Amino acid sequence: LDRELEAATGYRRGGGLRVALDDGEWAGAPAAVAEQRASGVPVELVDGLAAQRLAPGLSPDCPGGIHCPIDGQADAMATVSAFATAARRLGARVEEGVGAAALETANGRIAAVVREDGGREACDLAIVAAGAWSGTLLAGLGVRIPLQARALQMLLTDPAPPRLSPVLSRFAGGLSLKQLTDGAYLIGGGWPALILDEAANRWEVQEDSARGSLEVARAVYPPLAGCVVAERWAGIEAFTPDGLPVLGPVPGTDGLLVAAGFSGHGFALAPVVGDVLARLGLGREPLAHLWSGLRVGRRA
Ligand SMILES: Cc1cc2nc3c(=O)[nH]c(=O)nc-3n(C[C@H](O)[C@H](O)[C@H](O)COP(=O)(O)OP(=O)(O)OC[C@H]3O[C@@H](n4cnc5c(N)ncnc54)[C@H](O)[C@@H]3O)c2cc1C
Repeated sequence: LDRELEAATGYRRGGGLRVALDDGEWAGAPAAVAEQRASGVPVELVDGLAAQRLAPGLSPDCPGGIHCPIDGQADAMATVSAFATAARRLGARVEEGVGAAALETANGRIAAVVREDGGREACDLAIVAAGAWSGTLLAGLGVRIPLQARALQMLLTDPAPPRLSPVLSRFAGGLSLKQLTDGAYLIGGGWPALILDEAANRWEVQEDSARGSLEVARAVYPPLAGCVVAERWAGIEAFTPDGLPVLGPVPGTDGLLVAAGFSGHGFALAPVVGDVLARLGLGREPLAHLWSGLRVGRRA
């Protein structure tokens, strides 16, 4: 991807390790491995010692985990800016700080996007990819997609010496832990923040949530006990009832596509989703086998 975009996304393939902390969690691991392998994902079951070798510092209580050697991590801001810079280089106009207020149709086709600053962009193709705010834009056309906005919280520690290569998560949930290139640990895992104003993208970090997140992270990876949390924030994300995104043409309006409801997994999926949307927009082979189960109006 770095070569294609001619910029650094910060991608590192350090693997992913999903661990158990007790025998109850561990009992479900073989079935999870079998299911993923059947879908072609090259995961393997590792015992506690092997897990310790992959992630030195891991809790000695860990009976084992599932390792996926092709998992990795990238820098979100660097990746977004790499895509935007590449798009500009190819002639795209990227505007920031102005939203789409509404969509206009004529004779069953998309006709224009009305801007929040009062302007109007005539078009014959529009893609609604406005995250948790996509539902509002589509509702103006009478299209309803089942999106629920939730704020997810992140914690970032001060930099520490490099030690953790894979992204760590836990079977029981509540943990996504990675060490960034500057040594800081980024801790997430779906812990909720409070949405103060969804339309204005305002949220508030919750003390009990931050505490719970840190407790789980330290239980799985005790070296975090020596780290200070330097930053806390949240992001508003769109969830669907089945946890899968909504992708593809909007029935009833030619030239209108949607990609929303990524339910916590949209960063990793972005390159392939962009490819599918470009193909749909340009009338090329749309790789339908990848997304036909995600269509608008599926029973979620
Ligand atoms: C804390 C947190 C951690 C996460 N961690 C991971 C992870 O480790 N891996 C992973 O794969 N995913 C992760 N995700 C999920 C991932 O970030 C999202 O799934 C992804 O960003 C969704 O992409 P999107 O383009 O649909 O929406 P967004 O990223 O929300 O982007 C929507 C954009 O549309 C803009 N917008 C809104 N309304 C309008 C309008 N009317 N007109 C124009 N623009 C508008 C918004 O300002 C925003 O820039 C995480 C999410 C959060 C919140």
